[in-house]
Amino acid sequence: MLSYRHGFHAGNFVDVHKHITLMLLIKSLKKKDAPFCYIDTHAGSALYDLQSGFAQKNREYETGIGRLWNIKNPPAAIASYLRTVAMVNATQKKDRMNPRYYPGSPVIARQLLRPQDRIVLMELHNTEAPLLKKYFTNDSQVSVHHRDGFEGLNALLPPQERRGLVLIDPTYELGDEFERLTEILIKAWRKWPTGIYAVWYPVQRGQPINQFHNDLRNSGIKKIYLSEISVVPDTEPNRLSGSGIIIINPPWRFDQILNKVTEWLEPVLDRGSKIPARCAWLGNTA
Ligand code: SAM
Repeated sequence: MLSYRHGFHAGNFVDVHKHITLMLLIKSLKKKDAPFCYIDTHAGSALYDLQSGFAQKNREYETGIGRLWNIKNPPAAIASYLRTVAMVNATQKKDRMNPRYYPGSPVIARQLLRPQDRIVLMELHNTEAPLLKKYFTNDSQVSVHHRDGFEGLNALLPPQERRGLVLIDPTYELGDEFERLTEILIKAWRKWPTGIYAVWYPVQRGQPINQFHNDLRNSGIKKIYLSEISVVPDTEPNRLSGSGIIIINPPWRFDQILNKVTEWLEPVLDRGSKIPARCAWLGNTA
């Protein structure tokens, strides 16, 4: 049984880091008219109410979207992200400290979609998947699958458009996700070597992150870029201290764009971490 519910974490610092990166990747794909496909293997439940019991439990959104919501003169990428969050709050008062609703990755991607593009969503949880299906009912550009995202990814690649992005955003509940991810990414990349893959992972003491990076470095996959932000000190084994994203096949000059955004985000989200943000290529970029 799956116990993770994204409602507890919606709009936290991880979502901020991940969703801004996601938007930048989709915007890069839109530089060409040719259609693209966005595949979200662990989609969650679309829209989150930050006043719900889940979100109110630890109010994680306060140190995520709450830190940006009323910020003055943000850079263009951040302003665009804030407009996207504002769109799902259009009926709410503007003077709130935090937004009432927070869009998950499927809703963010949907807002950026053009008529020629398509979205495929996968979600395994028995409560979340029906909510996701309901949200996208009658949307002919979005298909929702109540299934295992790892299995589904293997079945769906390559998409007919041969252009696009896969977001892999697992819950890391089982303990073997990092190893499994490396295998899944190698398999996916062999089936679709030109696809863009964005993979979120927890930056946390005790997690095999170096091993994960080394395995990817030695995997034969060529272009891999990473962005990591730490927000609290890395002193406790079971506490999430930061957010990491691996991007396979980042678009041209995406490294420079993401560096700037990561540099801007770091002090805004920081809560006493002594570890600087990190953006780097993993291994061979040729
Ligand atoms: N991507 C979402 C976003 O950014 O808004 C958040 C997703 S949340 C981190 C991970 C989701 O994956 C949860 O909703 C969980 O129920 C779902 N999940 C867990 N294991 C899964 C699996 N094997 N296949 C598909 N979904 C899974």
